[in-house]
Amino acid sequence: MSHVFPRHCHSDLPTAVRGDGCFLVDAQGKRYFDGSGGAAVSCLGHSNARVASAIKDQVDRLAFAHTGFFTSDPAEELADLLIANAPGDLDRVYFVSGGSEAVESAIKLARQYYVEVGQPQRRHLIARRQSYHGNTLGALAAGGNEWRREQFSPLLVDVSHISPCYEYAERQPDETVEAYGARVADELEQEILRLGPDTVMAFMAEPVVGATLGAVPAVAGYFKRIREICDRYGVLLILDEVMCGMGRTGHLFACNADQVAPDILCIAKGLGAGYQPIGAMLSSRKIYDAIRDGSGFFQHGHTYLGHPVAAAAALAVVRELLDNDLPARVAERSADFAGMLHARFGQNPHVGDIRGRGFFWGIEFVADRDSKTPFDARLGLAGKLKKAAFAEGLVCYPMPGTRDGKSGDHVLLAPPFVASDDELAGAMDSLARAVTTVL
Ligand code: PLP
Repeated sequence: MSHVFPRHCHSDLPTAVRGDGCFLVDAQGKRYFDGSGGAAVSCLGHSNARVASAIKDQVDRLAFAHTGFFTSDPAEELADLLIANAPGDLDRVYFVSGGSEAVESAIKLARQYYVEVGQPQRRHLIARRQSYHGNTLGALAAGGNEWRREQFSPLLVDVSHISPCYEYAERQPDETVEAYGARVADELEQEILRLGPDTVMAFMAEPVVGATLGAVPAVAGYFKRIREICDRYGVLLILDEVMCGMGRTGHLFACNADQVAPDILCIAKGLGAGYQPIGAMLSSRKIYDAIRDGSGFFQHGHTYLGHPVAAAAALAVVRELLDNDLPARVAERSADFAGMLHARFGQNPHVGDIRGRGFFWGIEFVADRDSKTPFDARLGLAGKLKKAAFAEGLVCYPMPGTRDGKSGDHVLLAPPFVASDDELAGAMDSLARAVTTVL
């Protein structure tokens, strides 16, 4: 009997024993195409020799040195490389062990910044409904996913939630795309005014919404307007690119597509590409300088921050992405990827929407295409799709719709950037068979 405490107590999981390119292999020898990179993690597949050897070299040289006492070469080099490619005036990198820690750090940094600059009344965070920012209590409070939050709500700080930018479900038939983007962005201004402009510290959003909606990018112009509103009221813009960053959408940083730069940026998942657990929070020069010239101490930290082996792995990952121009390749191949999806699912009467960017795509299922009515949540469609796809040898990421009925069950696809066209086509065929089985 297993003593591992699993996520699902009644599931009987196969044992993964090997990674082979874009495939995972279980103890029985069954091969699974990693069509979601786990959860948008494995951007380089599972057997990248450069990353593996960087890890080994680093362990041989130095496994661990606490950042309270030392810095390390891989952490310094990785920070330099990230900042050299980062948007705006992002200037400092705070390394952590994953996405939730990056988000948690961002919330605390925003708060401490306003304390340091003499505006301690700024304590409100605004985020968006149908978003996910992580499972630790601060990050969970920022997220708007009711299913993940509800039993923990007594423990969560108060965060205001505005609408996401979710054109498929929420743009009115008589509304232009531009007017829709402006309308939902303006909800931020209304919320700032409602709370009192001098009490709001930050607004947080995912440039492309991942786990909760399934690869939903904002419409053109939305984030520019959000940036303007933040600037008007001195509200910090925190972008959470934990899932959509690191080349996944065809840019090293997803916000480049929206031509905005945040004050704080969170990354994880693709940064370590699954080879090591690592995340990072990138901070603007303004924020870092305020702390350096103020207390001189960021009141936050974890034992494993800046772990040398994790940093060495991530350094090799980012070099691999940049040396092989993988974000640009992902952008070029995006239309073909979309074409494969439309060819297989576009005519399905239960497919309401196919959306995404780069190698980050979502398919939303509906009971009725014209009215965009989701399936009844009690049918458990997402769970059935996951099972059927897995039986076909495909790992994908199905999620249920939201309880308010505003979004339907969807499947998220985030394959490795190194997948061949044939591998992608094979994976789409597996998914099509799984959809036929379930629907
Ligand atoms: N932020 C976003 C946008 C995510 O998608 C996730 C995880 O899915 C997180 C934060 C949390 O990351 P982690 O699971 O590494 O803590």
